Amino acid sequence: MTISQAHKRYEFKRQLEDMRRRTGRGTELISLYIPPDKQVSDAVAQLKNEHGQAANIKSKSTRTNVQSALESVLARLKYYPRPPENGFVIFCGTLDLDGHRTTLDTVIIEPPEPITSYKYHCDSSFYLDPLEDMLTEKKTFGLLAIDRREATVGLLRGKSIEARKHMTSSVPGKQRKGGQSARRFQQLRLIAIHDFYKRIGNSASEIFLTIDHKDLEGILIGGPSPTKEEFLEGEFFHHEIQKKIIGLFDIAYTDESGLYELVDAASDALQDLEVVKEKKVMQRFMRELVSDKGLAAYGDQQVRENLGMGAVDLLLISEDLRRVRATVACQNCDYTGEKTIEDVSDDALGSCPVCGSDLKITDTVDVVDELTGICDQMSTGVEFISTDFEEGDQLMRAFGGVAAILRYDTGV
Ligand code: ZN
Repeated sequence: MTISQAHKRYEFKRQLEDMRRRTGRGTELISLYIPPDKQVSDAVAQLKNEHGQAANIKSKSTRTNVQSALESVLARLKYYPRPPENGFVIFCGTLDLDGHRTTLDTVIIEPPEPITSYKYHCDSSFYLDPLEDMLTEKKTFGLLAIDRREATVGLLRGKSIEARKHMTSSVPGKQRKGGQSARRFQQLRLIAIHDFYKRIGNSASEIFLTIDHKDLEGILIGGPSPTKEEFLEGEFFHHEIQKKIIGLFDIAYTDESGLYELVDAASDALQDLEVVKEKKVMQRFMRELVSDKGLAAYGDQQVRENLGMGAVDLLLISEDLRRVRATVACQNCDYTGEKTIEDVSDDALGSCPVCGSDLKITDTVDVVDELTGICDQMSTGVEFISTDFEEGDQLMRAFGGVAAILRYDTGV
């Protein structure tokens, strides 16, 4: 992922978090999903119909709120002669602010991936599932379900599993025919098994090698013991594929359903993989921190100073970092400066270092937007770190949500 992809993903994630917090008092929040190939005029007709039906809603306030939300959505649709490239989602409804106040709010999201189906949804919260699904990584894994009689090769992309090839062997069963010597029978059987493994290795490698090397995250092998272990030790895959084997998993089926069983069995390992990457970065930071080479920095101020000098090799940002960089000005003299604060209502602005009067905010930018923008200019790498594991949690709680691995010791 490039910095701007990682950043866009982060922004999209935050936008969804924000939408998830918004609730209404009744069943009155509208979520409208319009795919790229939908005629906007069809959507308009459907919404007008919903508006008519809403007249039957018993509660007067819900009825009024649903109808005004629909009117607001219809008004917005006038600006879209056709849907944008990936389609769009309109969220609209009367939000419950603090138990006393309400406000009619409309948010339009153009998602990073195409919307696949039209949906009109009215509930006390917004319907976010299709957008949340887009956040799951689209990495590809090679799948192999194998025993001595049958094998299925497939791919796991994001959450979807595709079977690509099914193979059966001519390996004779364990019962030999009369007249055959036991030793000869055993020999033939082993040769047949070996040939089958070879055939599987070649076909599967061919399929896996069509995936761009950097998108192929790893290979999962499932089957009974000792077949899968034999297959692994025999190195039947192409050497580039052999290197990508993540693990062996016990499964009972080796037809297409075996692929599903395999992904299920490997789910913990797959989840760990994502965390392992972030964990390695955090461990590198921790190692630098305790060494005396001076190649670790953390906290808003120290990281900023190093970034300004172009000394940061890799910037680590906690996914939970929610802060604002504010431009502040003195209410009395000409002083202006910048401060990192919790949010715009933060009143810990301090006082003017020149005359001691109160400061006021004149401009704000999200800290993550700002820092990743700087990194983009300086070709500094950025890694977003989740708080789902111990070191990631520490980044947020102990290091102020932001840390850096430096190119050289700046003495800051
Ligand atoms: Zn002042």
